[in-house]
Amino acid sequence: MAQSQSNRRVLVLPGDGIGPEIMHEALRVVHFFDRRHIASFDIAEDLVGGAAYDAYGTPLRDATLLKALASDAVLFGSVGGPKWEKLPFELWPERGLLRLRKEMALFANLRPAVVFDALAEASSLKRELVAGLDLVIVRELTGGIYFGEPRGIETLADGSRRGINTEVYDESEIERVVRVACELARKRDGRVCEVDKANVMESGGLWREVAQRVRDTEYPDIELSFMYADNCAMQLVRNPKQFDVIVTGNLFGDILSDCAAMLTGSLGMLPSASLGEADATGRRRALYEPVHGSAPDIAGKNLANPLACILSLAMMLRYSFDMGEEADLVENAVRRTLAAGVRTNDIAGSGMRGVSTREMGDAVLRELEHLV
Ligand code: NAD
Repeated sequence: MAQSQSNRRVLVLPGDGIGPEIMHEALRVVHFFDRRHIASFDIAEDLVGGAAYDAYGTPLRDATLLKALASDAVLFGSVGGPKWEKLPFELWPERGLLRLRKEMALFANLRPAVVFDALAEASSLKRELVAGLDLVIVRELTGGIYFGEPRGIETLADGSRRGINTEVYDESEIERVVRVACELARKRDGRVCEVDKANVMESGGLWREVAQRVRDTEYPDIELSFMYADNCAMQLVRNPKQFDVIVTGNLFGDILSDCAAMLTGSLGMLPSASLGEADATGRRRALYEPVHGSAPDIAGKNLANPLACILSLAMMLRYSFDMGEEADLVENAVRRTLAAGVRTNDIAGSGMRGVSTREMGDAVLRELEHLV
């Protein structure tokens, strides 16, 4: 395992709603590593979202942004809630997260879809299709049709209106996200599937050409395949276990990652990572967060499932600190916790009463104690 050292700077932003509750459990894992001299971290904590608005009148202070930019990783909880819904758009809690993503230039969004054996029944697909599923979707996050120009709604000569958005990708934008996918595949099963609509879109043709070139010149060990996005949507529900790493543009990634998420059946289990460009030392800006939101309906009740946040921490260990062994340890502790039948309400199944947020954290800590 990695030597204990304390130069790993992590900014923790718990946020709103269930954010602070689930982050508390994830930080217990960090304290466990510290206590057992496995690894230590320089943790700074700050406010974001509605909590930052209440304290400072803005969902993200410049000072917090500077701390994020100077950190090796940001661990984020969740933001938002009914309390702040009447605010002007630019003060919404979610603007804090969007500004962070933009200023940190996080262009690659990693969304794993992993089905833990003990939870295979939670999927809407048959157990045999999803048991053991382990794929990652790498979505390009800062380009494509969501940002391309021209955009807008124009009025035509006859008075009717036309809505316009433009799919635009530069070669460099494709190259860097394909590299992230190939690096990731090297730590997994070595297979990348590039997904596009090259049959009807020129930009898709460019994605294929660039992906092939990056693979041939930099990652000859990676097996690269191509698939049209409509077929990929179908294959994700027909035979999802065929995939290792999927890399795709912003629009298709948005849709396909939600589809893949639902294969696992539970929002409270899904972690994610967003990565930026690597600097000269290989360090990438990175933000790790659960996929779910602030769940105002259960906030403050000690009912939230903290596993998505704990699994986001595991992703941080793996991708920001190259601590694969420690990440495996956390994921195994979660796997054993679930195998032992410990469930929060969201994954408990009908008629069963789940444990509290804190009890789920206790169970994961117990398994960590066993494993180390
Ligand atoms: P949500 O993900 O917060 O909740 C959807 C449903 O899933 C709720 O019933 C909730 O109780 C449940 N749920 C979510 N996470 C859970 C967990 N860890 N354990 C147990 N149950 C869980 O989505 P929503 O209700 O659409 O949004 C609520 C607020 O969160 C809104 O203000 C929204 O803007 C915000 N939001 C924030 C983020 C983010 O911070 N990244 C993402 C999505 C939504």
